[in-house]
Amino acid sequence: MLPTVSKPRWPRKNAFSRRFKSVKVKTGIGLDSHRFVEGASDRSLVLGGLVFEDAPALAGNSDADVILHAVTDAISGVTGRTVIGAVADALCQQGITDSKAYLKVALEDLGDWQISHVSVALECLRPKIDPKVPALRASLAELLGIEPGDVCITATTGEGLNDCGRGLGIHASAVVTVVQV
Ligand SMILES: [Zn+2]
Repeated sequence: MLPTVSKPRWPRKNAFSRRFKSVKVKTGIGLDSHRFVEGASDRSLVLGGLVFEDAPALAGNSDADVILHAVTDAISGVTGRTVIGAVADALCQQGITDSKAYLKVALEDLGDWQISHVSVALECLRPKIDPKVPALRASLAELLGIEPGDVCITATTGEGLNDCGRGLGIHASAVVTVVQV
């Protein structure tokens, strides 16, 4: 004889769903990687809008701010319009190489969606990320119009299994959560 399967006993509309039924949530994911410039360069390493002194600049047409590119891409993962690509390339050709400008375009695409949280994960051997985490959180929070407590940054060397972990470049992943109330 087959065992009987009882129906789930939890109510389909519990107190949580009633309370938050008017809140919509979306999540976007973004990735980016850049190699370090080889040899002498007059460029600086820029991450999350901050200048870092303890590693070479990243190569790219823009300032190659890999964190801002990943965050911008994550916002595109919510809005559906890619900015890091044709839009950023066009701005670059106009001489706009500050990645904060690309982020601004993506933020405008959000409309009335509000960012509630941003999580950034870096993979690199250099520079040292941990000492700069508080400053990075503050910088990103200001650029995104949210509180530093709603920006989290983690970093790993990934045990040197790939080029970023071996010190040849930096990889950034970002997850952006947005809400519409
Ligand atoms: Zn990039």
